[in-house]
Amino acid sequence: MKIFISADIEGVSGIVHGEHTARDGREHDYARKLMTEEVNACVLGALDAGAKEIIVNDSHGTMRNIFHEDLHPKAALISGSPKKLAMMEGLSDDFDAAICIGYHTMMGSNGILNHTFNGRVVKSIEINGQAFGEFGLNALVAGYFNVPTILVSGCDLVAQEAAACISNIHTIEVKQTINRTTALNKHPIVARELIKKGTTQAIKGRNDVPPFKIEPPYSVKISFLHTGLADAVEILPMVQRVDPLTISFVMRDFLDCYRMIRSTIMMAGAVQ
Ligand SMILES: [Zn+2]
Repeated sequence: MKIFISADIEGVSGIVHGEHTARDGREHDYARKLMTEEVNACVLGALDAGAKEIIVNDSHGTMRNIFHEDLHPKAALISGSPKKLAMMEGLSDDFDAAICIGYHTMMGSNGILNHTFNGRVVKSIEINGQAFGEFGLNALVAGYFNVPTILVSGCDLVAQEAAACISNIHTIEVKQTINRTTALNKHPIVARELIKKGTTQAIKGRNDVPPFKIEPPYSVKISFLHTGLADAVEILPMVQRVDPLTISFVMRDFLDCYRMIRSTIMMAGAVQ
């Protein structure tokens, strides 16, 4: 059995601030340790459920966060960027399940450290009229490969966001949202135990969770935080300007759609 783990940092217990998540943050290395140990808990749970191969994709920022030497030796690690499939790099149709650890809510919702891919760029992303954050978009990549996304860990509100996409997904709430940068956190040892047990249960019940898909064609609208970001993205020939903050495009293939979303955000992110 092959299990894919996409690991972000904002949804890890104890992490509430840019000092934790930014490369030059004073508490970043401590946050990386907390992230690594929540991933290890997931790996242990997967091994208990009979996983034979586990790929962990480091999915935050530089994508060089997990302390490799501290990662469970049964897990192989994808680190570094850029990656064509970003937070889902390494996934293919021979995996049995995908798991999201340390995830957070979409920009503009409540939830700890809410944002969508780039907190200085994206206001919202809609596909066929439905708003998605990182969880939904990444679960749709897994769905493209017919792989079910069976578990998400993070704050109470990312659990709700995930359940709105996939009704019987396993959710592990390691912290409760008080506001965007304040949480009631479970102790790290308790959070890890919940993740380990939840992973084992989720893998055992993986056949009850369908791969997450929506019908093509994919009509995408991306709204940016200021007009200069949309000005840059509008240069692309397949992009339409819908309103001062919003661009749109249409794709038939979901991987093309995801890569286009990622590309436009990187392009806008280059605007000074
Ligand atoms: Zn992140």
